[in-house]
Amino acid sequence: MEWATEVLSYFTSDFLWAGAVLAVKITVVSMVIGLTFGLVLALMRMSEYRPIAGVAWVYIWVMRGTPLLLQLVFIFDALPLVGLKFDSFTTAVIGFSLNQAAFSAEILRGGILSVSPQQAVAASSLGMGPMLTLRRIVLPQAMRAILPALANDTIGMLKMTSVASVIFVNELTFRAQQIVGENFKFFTVFAGAGLIYLLLTSIISIVQMTLERSLDPDRRQQAGPRGRLGFGRRGQVALPVATAGPARKASRVETVRELIPAASATSSDQPFLQCTNVWKAYGERDVLKGISFDVKPGEVVAVIGPSGSGKSTLLRLVNHLESIDQGEIRVGGRYVGYVKENGHLKPISGRARARAEVGVSMVFQSFNLFANLTALENIMEAPVRVHGVPKAEAEALARRLLAAVGLSSHADHLPQHLSGGQQQRVAIARALAVKPRLMLFDEPTSALDPELVGEVLSVMRALAEAGMTMVIVTHEIRFAREVADRVVFFDDGNIVEEGAPADVLDRPKMERTRQFLSAISNESDDEEVA
Ligand code: ADP
Ligand code: MG
Repeated sequence: MEWATEVLSYFTSDFLWAGAVLAVKITVVSMVIGLTFGLVLALMRMSEYRPIAGVAWVYIWVMRGTPLLLQLVFIFDALPLVGLKFDSFTTAVIGFSLNQAAFSAEILRGGILSVSPQQAVAASSLGMGPMLTLRRIVLPQAMRAILPALANDTIGMLKMTSVASVIFVNELTFRAQQIVGENFKFFTVFAGAGLIYLLLTSIISIVQMTLERSLDPDRRQQAGPRGRLGFGRRGQVALPVATAGPARKASRVETVRELIPAASATSSDQPFLQCTNVWKAYGERDVLKGISFDVKPGEVVAVIGPSGSGKSTLLRLVNHLESIDQGEIRVGGRYVGYVKENGHLKPISGRARARAEVGVSMVFQSFNLFANLTALENIMEAPVRVHGVPKAEAEALARRLLAAVGLSSHADHLPQHLSGGQQQRVAIARALAVKPRLMLFDEPTSALDPELVGEVLSVMRALAEAGMTMVIVTHEIRFAREVADRVVFFDDGNIVEEGAPADVLDRPKMERTRQFLSAISNESDDEEVA
């Protein structure tokens, strides 16, 4: 048992622990710097601007492709030549940080890519800038994919600090070797040092587990705002849901009318949305070929047309989620994120702010709720973070909106625990929370099971009755006929026909419209048979 006592004595040796502390210091500082720099590199690498992406790529290529040992020696010898003299600890931190940044960049990029880009589009449409979206929406979700790899790297780095002995950093392994050099007790000394490493890396593993648990949205939700703010779920059962059919609908229209800004209600003949000769191409392919169309305040326009005809593209152009090639689009008389110079539209920086100010909200086919936030938080996000509404006020508004869409009792649910129809109603509430003057719907019911379509359409109908200005891309012909003031038929990047629903849908003038309508009605007949 003598060897055991000896191992224990090395495991508790102050001399070895001083080296361990140094290793920990190098690891912690380098990891923090490496991650920060790594995030910058990851964002550069994902930049649309090729030279920026290229610089990041080259950096990562070199740092990942050469041994850390060489990098350390190089920095140690090269820096003094340009007049920079650091002690060996600082040199080690610089070397490890620069090296770690390259690895972190790729880990972070992987995590960011794992988050559905649709959520970022939704954030943009709400006026959230790229950095806000990254911090609030993308990184919290990406972290779950990032953490395990990052813990690997941290453990790897803690052990690799022994490499720093080449530049005379007196860390744990180096110290163990010094003892062995004197007493030749290989096994017990290295076993003692090994145990110290094992203890330290175990701590990293525990930190990893704790962080992973705290990042799990399900757990966060359980501990969530309900508990903190003391709201009981029972107290909030929605009144509109509890009351019967027509009364419920009337109160829904009432709530919505109260919540939407006056601009929609002002009946003016000036179009609120004005698209003039809009052209848009992707690569060689013209997707929109000179579209002109107007929407008056309070008007509800249904856009129909075959898949690929450019309907979504037009909606994305309206609040500058994509740039326009030719022509112009004005919302409330203004260009969104452009200024006009010598007859040409010039994009300006601060597009997010322009979007936030213009008052256009969008609802997507795939809902695009923020997966890391509860229904309530999804709705509060843009009012609080973009428009600076105090939290309590935003929460009150969000709860009223949830009630208006019949989801009061789901305030604290995560999107993944809601049905498609419920998610879409939350998405509509979220879009309304920024008090838009124009609502764009891009096939809001196409991703829903047939039995869930009705609940979403009824919310949209209430909006229409409340006087909201709306453009709705839809295949729900019956709904369009009932709710729309005007129907626009798109085909191949052109408006083929537009007019009152009864004219376009029941007595189409153009052969192409007739074909499309009969194809759609056959489809729904099939569904009814099936
Ligand atoms: P719709 O909504 O009417 O189905 P879209 O506006 O989504 O049609 O698309 C019109 C055409 O533009 C399609 O052919 C589509 O493949 C193409 N398209 C849309 N977005 C992009 C993009 N980001 N890059 C390249 N092509 C695109
Ligand atoms: Mg589309």
